[in-house]
Formats: sequence, C-alpha cells, structure tokens
Amino acid sequence: MPTYDPNNIFAKILRGELPCHKVYEDDKAFAFLDIMPRAPGHTLVLPKAPARNILDIAPDDLAHVIKVAQKIAQAGIRAFGADGVTVQQFNEGAGGQVVFHLHVHVIPRKEGLPLKPPASFKEEPDMLKEHAAKLAAALSG
Ligand code: 5GP
Repeated sequence: MPTYDPNNIFAKILRGELPCHKVYEDDKAFAFLDIMPRAPGHTLVLPKAPARNILDIAPDDLAHVIKVAQKIAQAGIRAFGADGVTVQQFNEGAGGQVVFHLHVHVIPRKEGLPLKPPASFKEEPDMLKEHAAKLAAALSG
C-alpha cells in the first residue's frame, strides 16, 4: 500500500495552509464542509494524526473520528431539519477515495431528496459559511 503523503490537500487544510469552512475542532479531530456538497451540510471529519485511510489509522484515532462523526450527524439533524444522515468513508482509489488523508463524510438527508452526484456542484463560499455557522451553533446548543 502507498504511504501517507503530507502534501495532500487535507493535510494542508489541517496545517492552516489552505482555507476551509470549519465546523468542529478538538485536540484529535477536525471537521469542515465539503466544497462540493452532495447535500446541504455535507461535512468531512478528519483525524489530526496523519493517516491515509482506514488501513493505516491507529484504532484509537479511528474511534475518536467516529465519535465526532456521530456528534456532527446529530447536529446536522438539528441544524438542517434533516430526516436522516448518510455516512460514507472510502479507502484507496479502488475504494473510491480521492483525497488521501482519512475522512468520514457526514451528509444530512431529507426524505425523498437524492444525493447530488459526487463532485458535480461547487457550493458558493457564502452558503458554505452560513451552513458551517449553523452546524457549529447546533453543536454547541
Ligand atoms: P473522497 O476522497 O472521500 O472520495 O472525496 C474527497 C472529498 O473531498 C470530495 O467529496 C470532494 O468534494 C472534497 N474536496 C476535494 N477537495 C476539497 C477541498 O479543497 N476542500 C474541501 N473542503 N473539500 C474538498
């Protein structure tokens, strides 16, 4: 298997070298909005520790990421009046992974509304800012 590349785009976001719309941060995890959301509130939850995907992450870091994904899922229901949540996580190119720092997709869902196709729509920064603020407020409420 390939090894972790510290120059992947999410590593740059974690180091603050590239911008993002932050939703949540603690000592071991970071969450921000996907720039090409498949539904409003589509959030990516990452470990801060360098890990390519589920194949190389330390089990405790993985457990923490999943705990944070649960908090984001619950907040997404409150913030967006969602009826459900889709959680996805891809591993290696053959598994559908495009960015090679582990991330869990948390996508609020409305009854009867299909997901937009992957990478089909780049959201406006103002809308992402509004959605990140809604999620952050739901997380602290
Ligand atoms: P995956 O690796 O799980 O298949 O997909 C990577 C995800 O990252 C995609 O949903 C894509 O829209 C998102 N993405 C790619 N580049 C960026 C970026 O620069 N910023 C943010 N916030 N999301 C990104």
